[in-house]
Amino acid sequence: MKTQYASYQETLTFLEEAMSQHPNLIRLQSIGETWEQRPIMLATISNDVSYADQKPALLYTGTIHAREWIGNELAIKFVKYIIDNYRFNPKLMAALTRNTLYLVPCLNPDGFEYSRNHFSFWRKNRRDNGDGSFGVDLNRNFDSHFRKQVDANSTTYSGPHAFSEPETQAIKGFVEAHPNITIALDYHSQGNVFFPAHKFNHEVEIEGTDLNVLCANMNCEIKKVTGRQYGIHRGKPPANLIRGSGREYYYARGILAVVVEVGTRNIPDYMQNMAQSVDENIPALFYALSEAINYSSLAPKRVEGFTINKIGVDSVTLEWLPPANDDLYFEIYRSDSSKSQCNEQTLVAITKSTLFTDVQLSSGKSYYYNIRAVDKISKIKSPFSPEIRLKTLLANDEFSLTVFPSKAEVGYLGANYLNKNKEHFGYNSMFIGVNQKRGISYGLVRFDLTNLPEGANIKIARFALYPMNRVAAKIEKYGHWSIDILDAHQIADIYDFTEIASAPSLFSLGHTIESDKLTQGIWSHWPFNGVERERLQQHCQQQENLSVKKYLLLRIQGPTTLPLGNDSQMMQFDIGFGPFGSGLHYRPYLELIYSKQQQTIEMLPDSLHTIYPDRVVEGKLAAGFDPQGKIIYGQMAFALDALPDPDTTVITEAYLVLNHKLSDAKLGGKDIRFTIELVELNDVDYSSVKQREKIEYIGYEVSIEQLREQAKQFFIFDSYSRLALERLHSENKAFYFIIRATAASQSKNVLVDWYSIDHAQQAKLVINTIERRKFPLDPPSDLNIISENKALKLTWKNPVHPDFVGSFVVRNRFHPPKSPADGVKIYGGKDEYTVDRFGNSQIAKYYSVFSYDNVPNYSAPTSVYYENNQVISLDEQSNELFSETEDEDMFLGDD
Ligand SMILES: [Zn+2]
Repeated sequence: MKTQYASYQETLTFLEEAMSQHPNLIRLQSIGETWEQRPIMLATISNDVSYADQKPALLYTGTIHAREWIGNELAIKFVKYIIDNYRFNPKLMAALTRNTLYLVPCLNPDGFEYSRNHFSFWRKNRRDNGDGSFGVDLNRNFDSHFRKQVDANSTTYSGPHAFSEPETQAIKGFVEAHPNITIALDYHSQGNVFFPAHKFNHEVEIEGTDLNVLCANMNCEIKKVTGRQYGIHRGKPPANLIRGSGREYYYARGILAVVVEVGTRNIPDYMQNMAQSVDENIPALFYALSEAINYSSLAPKRVEGFTINKIGVDSVTLEWLPPANDDLYFEIYRSDSSKSQCNEQTLVAITKSTLFTDVQLSSGKSYYYNIRAVDKISKIKSPFSPEIRLKTLLANDEFSLTVFPSKAEVGYLGANYLNKNKEHFGYNSMFIGVNQKRGISYGLVRFDLTNLPEGANIKIARFALYPMNRVAAKIEKYGHWSIDILDAHQIADIYDFTEIASAPSLFSLGHTIESDKLTQGIWSHWPFNGVERERLQQHCQQQENLSVKKYLLLRIQGPTTLPLGNDSQMMQFDIGFGPFGSGLHYRPYLELIYSKQQQTIEMLPDSLHTIYPDRVVEGKLAAGFDPQGKIIYGQMAFALDALPDPDTTVITEAYLVLNHKLSDAKLGGKDIRFTIELVELNDVDYSSVKQREKIEYIGYEVSIEQLREQAKQFFIFDSYSRLALERLHSENKAFYFIIRATAASQSKNVLVDWYSIDHAQQAKLVINTIERRKFPLDPPSDLNIISENKALKLTWKNPVHPDFVGSFVVRNRFHPPKSPADGVKIYGGKDEYTVDRFGNSQIAKYYSVFSYDNVPNYSAPTSVYYENNQVISLDEQSNELFSETEDEDMFLGDD
């Protein structure tokens, strides 16, 4: 027994006191009676409470599992926060005026008291099962895919039939009588994770974004208090999902339902851990309460047709359908990861338009967009449309490479498994840290970088790992996880624990993750900073110089000692392979954006001319003013023979080098400057030159003074003129340049000579290029889809082209993917078919197929809609169908 925690009776006394002091705010009622005749109390809190049932409501339930005391404790502290603050905090006042809070601090009072007074780790209620065993797991007793179990002794015994228990009957009766409930939060411990509800369909649901955003925004409030970030995910594939839980019962009734697993143990050290959990969850609850109205019948409808209009290198245009109601505007949110918050920090536009262009984005980067409509009078917001995911295009000199380890190259090494460590590779998830069973354990990932070209200039490098659960990480604020780079060629056996443990680090990634910040269900990223990228590049160069295979070998390490009274501080990361992984999507990966080494091409002029008003002198380049003050033009032409295929030649830099003859230049006159123009020219004569079509000035003009000081001048092309060169190149036009003198006042008889053709000092055009395809290939054609053995088979035809590398297939339930990132990856490779075994073949959905080259540039999508609105229930489906989840992974939790 921990005396700092309130008993059930103390909880009721507190609530009665609160009600007597705030009668317009709080109303108490019993919604049922337990086996041991305790009342199941529910508090209604709203301003004013007599209208409570007419407002949209948040339902709070706590401690349905007896030993998960946080639920009851948080309820008390939240009510205390409300009564202490609502009169002075206008936001809280508004939340309570527009919404109602229904709060059941403890849905299992008998079990709670049994846990408090006798058996700390008791979970169920106190039904006498009649066979000597006691208790039903109330969170298996709802009718949502209820499954009858035989073993009444089991801690998850579901009871004789759905709703057999007075506690579940009580909440069922209340929920059915209160259709104003729009959000239900069920508080459990442990895990520091949100588990949004699912529909046993193994597909994303239309409310999926709402659920993720609700949790992410609550997470944001949590983070403000403790810096902690809870995980957000939907749990195991449906075959193994929890059945008979309250969450799915609420969700099936149209309520956004989430289990919140708080803390890292069932009954934590109150002062050190419980206080943190309570403090961080109060603002999160406050936020959730204020959102209830946005999911009610008063709210505007979800925006329809939200999709990508155009993706660029640094901008993205989104579009959506105009709503029926004109009194709406739209909020657009952008973030750089999925399951991210949609609040002031990520709001990028408020607009009345149905088109939005987001600008100043980074190239080759993933972005996530969300939209909701807002009523301009009531300010009530709509639910969210399904999230859009995309990747901006690579800049024209960039390539990207995403590398995954092979089976044999990813695993963990435990000190207590010296001879068995090799078997972990490609089979077990990575256990990293320390516990009694495994001893100290390291994760190891080896990436083969053969496909990174020699001399590549690495611009972005990022390593990613997927944490599976932190249930085993029981210790708050103890230890951290970090990454060392090892020299793969100095290691004889990567499966040898001792060798790996003692291997010197070439360098470490500066970023570590603290134990209480590791978040299950959300990718952990290690971006290489500038110094680390340089080290990575040096490491690659050294291996290239030695002509050995190019590897990046990572050792991931956690804490190596255990604090008093604890037997484990271990984190589990998915490897994507093996029976415990969540599928290939969850493999660790290394993402690189790089540019290639440039080729330098020096071009000499094909022809030079000096064009006087009355004559043209071939082979000479001079410019100035004649004795009458008329302009004398210099003209240069460069042929394209030296440049390779325009489709695969990117001009990264270009400049003109001009030397002039100082000795015999007529440098008289003041304020004379010379400019160089890139032009289109019909003929080399005075009138054509006067009517020339200017494309762009090259570099900056030079003055007579600058010419006096420096015989050699460089004129550097800007981005626009480089693009112009590429265009002329692709149109097979020569490059023409004009040198022209300008003067502030009338100038006469000035001529600067830049040497004749074939002279060693003659004009020169220097172009740096890289070989890179600029445009995507044709999209795949003849896309078809058929249902085959309860899976969906897609077939298509790849474009025929020597640069074709593969086709990429993406699934999206709600809209045709217009970016390869906008959905779940189904396939990438050279085949012309794939079978989608992972989704529910009975639910309508879209697929897009993109072709790609080696940059990669992705083609326009070829899309198909698979229409079959009949949903076959899970029980009739073969479980093998569900071998990979949409976006989520396994969890061994306590809900
Ligand atoms: Zn629980």
